[in-house]
Amino acid sequence: MTELNKSTVSSLVEDLLARGLIHEIGVNSAGTGRPATLLEINPQAGGIIGVELGVDFVAVALMDFVGTVIWRHKEKADPFDEQMKTIKQTLDLADEAIAKCTDLNLRLLGLGLAAPGTVDLQEGVLIFSPNLRWHNVPLRKIFSEHTRLKVFIENDANAAGVAEHLFGVMRQAKDFIFIYAGVGIGGGLFLNGKLYRGHNGFAGEIGHISTVEEHTDEPCLCGNPGCWETHANQHAVIRRVEAGLKNGRVSLIPNLLAEQKESSLTVGIVKQAADAGDEVAIDSFAQVGRAMGQGIAGIVNIFNPEQIVIGGTLSTASGYFLPAVKEVVSQRALNNVLKKTEVIPSVFGDDASLFGAVAIVVEDIMWNPSSIERR
Ligand SMILES: [Zn+2]
Repeated sequence: MTELNKSTVSSLVEDLLARGLIHEIGVNSAGTGRPATLLEINPQAGGIIGVELGVDFVAVALMDFVGTVIWRHKEKADPFDEQMKTIKQTLDLADEAIAKCTDLNLRLLGLGLAAPGTVDLQEGVLIFSPNLRWHNVPLRKIFSEHTRLKVFIENDANAAGVAEHLFGVMRQAKDFIFIYAGVGIGGGLFLNGKLYRGHNGFAGEIGHISTVEEHTDEPCLCGNPGCWETHANQHAVIRRVEAGLKNGRVSLIPNLLAEQKESSLTVGIVKQAADAGDEVAIDSFAQVGRAMGQGIAGIVNIFNPEQIVIGGTLSTASGYFLPAVKEVVSQRALNNVLKKTEVIPSVFGDDASLFGAVAIVVEDIMWNPSSIERR
């Protein structure tokens, strides 16, 4: 398949074995000739720290080389907090993950960080995160100075797209779009077998497509009115529910809020209500699903992807909004082929970008195995 000759393959395999990135798992003596040595990617090649800087949470995980979770922790974070406070909170969790890896006597291969905004990959700087309201944060410098690890940074939706391709259901797909639907909407454009980054690396900011001239709900945190994500993100679900309650619709939600002693509505509570048959909750998801479908139909028309994969907080309620998304795509996409583009939830759900943070490190090692020491 590679058109490399046998001795070249052998020497490459020997090198990967020496670096502990693959290992032998037995022999296959079926067929004629010498028995073949069976190899696989070595899950124990090392540990990788994945860090997801969410908007209203931070999450850190230690995973092995094939993306199996060894340790993980997620905490709420307040987007209105001081920047350094949130970063410190994240660094503390990273320290815990590193300690766990050391305890297990596993070598550390690197740290990946997924951030909700535009990222300068060369400089390792988060250029702009509308939802965090952060500008020019040198995240790679901060994390590498603190952890002494090799640090990789990527936009959260891009990272999640890489995770779907490496560890998820998109392993065979060459053209798919990952949509991160949470506080904002981000896109990872996986085209022609690889992530499409655009001219300066900022491609995929699909949430900020202007869909209406004047803002009808709330201005987007990027500063513009009428961005698509303001109609199709998790806040849109909450706003729909609040409007329903204000109009006097009967709902379980006020009781659920009181029972759980929560002061503000979350997607989790709305989903709980929907699970119990609450119509305000179900309608809100469906309405946001239709808004999401309108944007997705446009994306399908532009890229003709094999599949659209939806992850992020909203994807935890995909049972409620995905039917509406599919219906709108089948109405609005341009022709019979595009109308059939499948829209599916991510296997990683809410954790897609956390797996993505690990996946970007694995991917880099796969392209540059010599960056890992021989053992
Ligand atoms: Zn915007």
